[in-house]
Amino acid sequence: MSVFNPNDHQHIRYNPLKDEWVLVSPHRLKRPWTGQVEKPVLDEIPEYDPKNPLCPGNIRSNGKQNPKYSGTYVFDNDFPALQPEVFSTEENNDPLFKMSPVSGECKVMCFHPHSNVTLPEMSNNDVIEVINKWVDLSKELGEKYTWVQVFENKGSVMGCSNPHPHCQIWASSFLPNEAAIEDKTQKNYYCKHGNQMLVEYARRESESKERIISENEHWVAIVPYWATWPYQAMLIPKRHVLRLPDLTDEERSSLAEVMKSLLTKYDNLFETSFPYSMGWHGAPTGLEMDKDNSHWQLHAHYYPPLLRSATVRKFMVGYEMLAQPQRDITAELAAKKLRELPEEHYKSKTT
Ligand code: ZN
Repeated sequence: MSVFNPNDHQHIRYNPLKDEWVLVSPHRLKRPWTGQVEKPVLDEIPEYDPKNPLCPGNIRSNGKQNPKYSGTYVFDNDFPALQPEVFSTEENNDPLFKMSPVSGECKVMCFHPHSNVTLPEMSNNDVIEVINKWVDLSKELGEKYTWVQVFENKGSVMGCSNPHPHCQIWASSFLPNEAAIEDKTQKNYYCKHGNQMLVEYARRESESKERIISENEHWVAIVPYWATWPYQAMLIPKRHVLRLPDLTDEERSSLAEVMKSLLTKYDNLFETSFPYSMGWHGAPTGLEMDKDNSHWQLHAHYYPPLLRSATVRKFMVGYEMLAQPQRDITAELAAKKLRELPEEHYKSKTT
């Protein structure tokens, strides 16, 4: 039997946040690659497109007109998945046919008036304005709703066809699945170990540096030990912070720095505008604010699908759908690749 080396040999890793395992198969990186490797198509996105419903001054499909905004701009989603109206119903206790009426609100937030800039290309102050808007919306909607989900879907490969830089905020009267499992795992960890799982995790990662992509006084950007997507990342504050509104001004500006660094490295990896789904997770809100949430730690997840180039993506199918997630490149190697990329955006180099 040969000696086990996690950089070469198959193993499983535990994700304590989701209470699940990922299969890591680094030996597969040695197999020959016969798939396509294409040069990225350079999209020419205009600064302003008269047909884009997110641009300043344009009329959206429901006939409403955007103001000529010059910074961030927030509006109610024209086709919301959740509506504020509350419906009363009789309780259904059938274990096989459970359901429950819910309520909520969906908002869209444009990051910038120009369609041809993304977060890593925006100035620090513009990114701080985005963060402050996330804070305001989290606070406002958090007064009414149990969960406020800030998320960004970027790139057509993630099903986002509109290139204008924007995100969405969905607030709900219920705790969604991902939030519910993280609430449970963080609570169990806190009861068992007496400290916050993700505060301790960020501290250990900052100490080892092995999976760090970027780091500053207040934040770490890491490829989590248990990552499933090739270049998956997390942003975690070093201090114990429950929710976005609890961040100090200094922590917000330092978040802008670390976020820009992560996203610049993402873009530089395959010299393309890196697609991903990202979102913030913090302690529950609404009526849950009165409960003890000290087991929670604020954090952001980034789930980018690209694997080998600007056009070759990973699919979570087959074994992943039927058994469990699997990856070839180790979290350590992915972090090293990202860490070693320049802080300067590839586009600013060529212009
Ligand atoms: Zn989370």
